[in-house]
Amino acid sequence: MSVQVVASKMAEVELKDIEKPVVKCEPVVSPTTPVISNVAAAVDPTLPTPSPNLMKMPQASAMKRTDPQHNGGEAFISPDGTVTEAPRTVKKQIQFADQKQEFNKRPTKIGRRSLSRSISQSSTDSYSSAASYTDSSDDETSPRDKQQKNSKGSSDFCIKNIKQADFGRREIEIAEQEMPALMALRKRAQGEKPLAGAKIVGCTHITAQTAVLMETLAALGAQCRWAACNIYSTQNEVAAALAEGGFAVFAWKGESEDDFWWCIDRCVNVEGWQPNMILDDGGDLTHWIYKKYPNMFKKIKGIVEESVTGVHRLYQLSKAGKLCVPAMNVNDSVTKQKFDNLYCCRESILDGLKRTTDVMFGGKQVVVCGYGEVGKGCCAALKAMGSIVYVTEIDPICALQACMDGFRLVKLNEVIRQVDIVITCTGNKNVVVREYLDRMKNGCIVCNMGHSNTEIDVASLRTPELTWERVRSQVDHVIWPDGKRIVLLAEGRLLNLSCSTVPTFVLSITATTQALALIELYNAPEGRYKQDVYLLPKKMDEYVASLHLPTFDAHLTELTDEQAKYLGLNKNGPFKPNYYR
Ligand code: NAD
Repeated sequence: MSVQVVASKMAEVELKDIEKPVVKCEPVVSPTTPVISNVAAAVDPTLPTPSPNLMKMPQASAMKRTDPQHNGGEAFISPDGTVTEAPRTVKKQIQFADQKQEFNKRPTKIGRRSLSRSISQSSTDSYSSAASYTDSSDDETSPRDKQQKNSKGSSDFCIKNIKQADFGRREIEIAEQEMPALMALRKRAQGEKPLAGAKIVGCTHITAQTAVLMETLAALGAQCRWAACNIYSTQNEVAAALAEGGFAVFAWKGESEDDFWWCIDRCVNVEGWQPNMILDDGGDLTHWIYKKYPNMFKKIKGIVEESVTGVHRLYQLSKAGKLCVPAMNVNDSVTKQKFDNLYCCRESILDGLKRTTDVMFGGKQVVVCGYGEVGKGCCAALKAMGSIVYVTEIDPICALQACMDGFRLVKLNEVIRQVDIVITCTGNKNVVVREYLDRMKNGCIVCNMGHSNTEIDVASLRTPELTWERVRSQVDHVIWPDGKRIVLLAEGRLLNLSCSTVPTFVLSITATTQALALIELYNAPEGRYKQDVYLLPKKMDEYVASLHLPTFDAHLTELTDEQAKYLGLNKNGPFKPNYYR
């Protein structure tokens, strides 16, 4: 199906689910924050979309999330009218450098290393690869102290080493092979340039996959300036390739906290250029603009946010009436949740365990805590490798699923003495506490694939009677007085993010969703979106998925007229309701 056909069909989606909140836009912290006038009229579903043909996409729905993990303890109403109430579980993880206006306090190398839980933790809830293939540890000069130019003479970037550009280009070309939808968008957008005039400032992991996204945005007409959302995840060679290609990139692996904010500042604080779109991962960039350059929001058309944390902050701003522009919540798109959580973890759990411990999976007894999307992925992978897998659950439905999938449902205390590997995937806190850690057998591997670093009570292991031995990068042996040792991976942080890479194809799905969200927000007519947080509609999820199907030579069945009528569906979708997960 051509993109025009798909896109024009997508525009037929109904907007009955759109809420009509009265959003009051007030200064966040400073009286100079711009007050963007409220949109008086409700969104009119009959409004013709001025977006280019390429992207006549449905308008997003301002549906509140029903995911209790993310909702900050409020009651949310889903489009089917279900009211969900959930406990407040989101913990603010980031310390902002609010007061930092000057960037002259350059930390020592030791100082940099000590930032292991600094801002970078903010983006650990997005799931990009954190690995770089470049070892630049022999060059200790800060990029901020280097004068570098690309081959065209431009020095509007700050990266580790421009000479690595060729290597980075190869990495980007490899990633392109696994990002078919973005490559398809580039081809199909030839001539249309739906992002012509867009000035996008981005703050995401700077990896080969992000480079493919940035080059796609540029091919669609956008100008981009980019910083890293994580102080460790930048692939230096990729940043070099981007800088060589003319992108204003400010990022390197191993930034200090001061560097981190400096890089963000260099992206936005530039003469003769002002962003009109934000692509953020973790909310740090958005926060910085709110704090330091609030007037910029007069020109900014929208924010696209990828991470759990960033989205949570946007909802907080919206609730307080302080969100000044429309924002798209990419994190809760079905195409992100289903693929990042299930398929990504199914592959990366093995990768993370193998790289850190060289463990043999066959015959090992493993307990997986939580049988949601992440748990299902981990269990499936380990079962396929011949492990004996136990599951713990609190929810009878997921518990029953585990049973029907052939896993033994147990309480953790029933198996804790016998298992070889413990994996947490609950999104909860204190699932593995000291009591369990005390009872584990010698050599038991303990790791987390779920939420941030809260699932394993690592703090309880920092007591005088226990000895910690760092045996490999991200691998600690914690030794009891009797000589028993457990193998703790990534200090209880997400194993796959910390110790392995993430499949490019999964990132392609997320990146395509980000690109479409940017195009939609940029081209939306005045009044279509208010100062609120929007979810991408199911139709757009379906479109993203459809762009990836050709990779598998997959042949999608089309509804007959009779079948469509019988099911009450439009033949061209959406095929599921917005609340479908
Ligand atoms: P989910 O809500 O589908 O699954 C979590 C499951 O854990 C639920 O079924 C819940 O009932 C169960 N649970 C909660 N508390 C429990 C407890 N004390 N003991 C046993 N089970 C318990 O969520 P998900 O999509 O599977 O994601 C889980 C976590 O993983 C989230 O924090 C998410 O942000 C994170 N995540 C990690 C990655 C990664 O790459 N590592 C990718 C996506 C999501």
